[in-house]
Amino acid sequence: MQDCIFCKIAAGEIPSHKIYEDESVFAFLDINPVNLGHALVIPKEHHKNLLDTPPELACKLISVVQKIAPAAIKAVGADSFNLGVNTGTSAGQVIPHTHFHVIPRHESDGHKPWASKEVTEDELKAAAEKIKKEL
Ligand code: 5GP
Ligand code: ZN
Repeated sequence: MQDCIFCKIAAGEIPSHKIYEDESVFAFLDINPVNLGHALVIPKEHHKNLLDTPPELACKLISVVQKIAPAAIKAVGADSFNLGVNTGTSAGQVIPHTHFHVIPRHESDGHKPWASKEVTEDELKAAAEKIKKEL
């Protein structure tokens, strides 16, 4: 897609620190990492977010995450990782091309992916019912 920065990165038109590539998936380092080794796994094909991505391609992205996450963890001396898929602007998605963040984590690195809220049992029950109705 014209004017999509991640399409251009996948096509090699914009330089990146590529760590993996196959026929449908490309992975490279995030320019502003949460921790060193923070990688982005993207489909070469343009899809605006995870929900727009064909399930077979989403599965391929996950299989690449399973391949590169242990490598990134080992490479930077981390022991864990977070997988992040911001989907939609309120969720923090800035680049409208599907991408999975693979973020190596260290004990006490201070990064807090998200805060939690206290809710009542009734609120949980009502939310579960509403979601099930939408499925
Ligand atoms: P989002 O907020 O959309 O989930 O994440 C987009 C990510 O892409 C951000 O973490 C940002 O640092 C990264 N990013 C944005 N532009 C570039 C770029 O030109 N090159 C690289 N390597 N990463 C980028
Ligand atoms: Zn794109």
